[in-house]
Amino acid sequence: MEYDFLVVGAGLSGSTVAERLASRGRKVLLVEKRSHIGGNAYDEYDEHGILVHRYGAHVFHTNSKEVFDYLSRFTEWRGYEHRVLSRVGGDYVPVPINRTTINRLYGLDLKSESDVAGYLERVRVNGLEIRSAEDVVLSKVGPDLYEKMFKHYTRKQWGVDPSVLSPEVTLRIPVRLDEDDRYFGDTHQVMPRDGYARMVARMLSSGNITLRLNTDYKDVAGRERYGHVVYTGPIDYFFDYKYGRLGYRSIRFESRTYDEEVHQPAGVVNYPSAEVGYTKSTEFKYLTGQKHAKTTVQNEYPTGDGEPYYPMMTGQDKALYERYREEADALADASFVGRLAEFKYYNMDQAVASALKLSRKLLGELEQQV
Ligand code: FAD
Ligand code: UDP
Repeated sequence: MEYDFLVVGAGLSGSTVAERLASRGRKVLLVEKRSHIGGNAYDEYDEHGILVHRYGAHVFHTNSKEVFDYLSRFTEWRGYEHRVLSRVGGDYVPVPINRTTINRLYGLDLKSESDVAGYLERVRVNGLEIRSAEDVVLSKVGPDLYEKMFKHYTRKQWGVDPSVLSPEVTLRIPVRLDEDDRYFGDTHQVMPRDGYARMVARMLSSGNITLRLNTDYKDVAGRERYGHVVYTGPIDYFFDYKYGRLGYRSIRFESRTYDEEVHQPAGVVNYPSAEVGYTKSTEFKYLTGQKHAKTTVQNEYPTGDGEPYYPMMTGQDKALYERYREEADALADASFVGRLAEFKYYNMDQAVASALKLSRKLLGELEQQV
């Protein structure tokens, strides 16, 4: 056997598995169809010298000590608490919804957490059975805030009505009774000091890893000699779409560089109105802490065409995924991990956690622990 493992995809999932296996002396062939490593977390300096995320803003946050400690071997960190403002009417208000959001939008002066709880109790829809992303929001904050901040944003992002999306989509966004305006509540809220691409490059530095860029799985499947394949691409592609295509949502990114140090009032501004074509604008310097006389801002236009970025969170797609998963589970010489292969709405830390778990299994370490 020339390689013990073929790992497909050099995103965070594939890179974590490759690193773990290589660190235990396994020979790994890592193939990546793009011209770079890092997957969707990939960052690079644009033509103006500003560090940008090619596939949209990536902010690291986790409650997992294991994931944080693991990645800390490959990067130093910069503390960064992400804040997002939502453009509603002519105003910028915090999202997740908090006390400030409600006071500003409705000209109120709610002073305490119990004031906010009382307000929400009056406006929220009671007794709703939570079956969809729409139900989640209506049951927490009622129809007006839903309309102003969630309904059209979600329609733009997913191309379908929130009523057909699973609850987990909007459950990602909490509602706060206090004035905490951070986007995330996790213990660790940090950015890799030198960027994600550099972090992943360090993960892949072992001599036991052979990296081939611009190489699709199907270029090497059956041609190279390897013991086991770890696949992190879209699972329906692996099986030649035999049960049909899974839904994935994509994004078209448009960037502009301004001759000013700061352009917008927060790292990310969301545009929840139906009139604006994009969902959000990211000004990268907030995230990276870079000092530069210019600034680059990237708008996100969700689309049905293009590379798969988001697994579609509908019941229909999940049911179709289950058919592929059953097929995948039956294969002894292949494992599937990551956002596209597991068809899960993973954040980066969840992808790494899943990859660490699989690595332990592949190395036989899970059995030893029992
Ligand atoms: P990917 O990053 O998709 O990597 C898979 C790799 O496999 C890709 O490089 C792909 O080219 C390659 N590949 C696919 N098929 C093949 C094939 N057939 N042959 C060879 N190679 C193949 N998470 C956060 O925690 N915080 C955020 O702020 C955040 N923001 C995000 C914003 C956007 C717009 C998107 C799309 C995602 C965001 N995420 C964020 C999620 C994060 O990107 C993922 O959780 C993480 O990158 C998943 O890593 P992965 O390796 O599983 O998948
Ligand atoms: N969402 C919304 N309005 C907002 C922010 C989020 O409607 O201002 C909804 C939308 O459906 C989105 C989901 O909440 O897809 C999850 O938001 P998150 O910011 O976690 O999305 P991601 O960063 O994964 O794109």
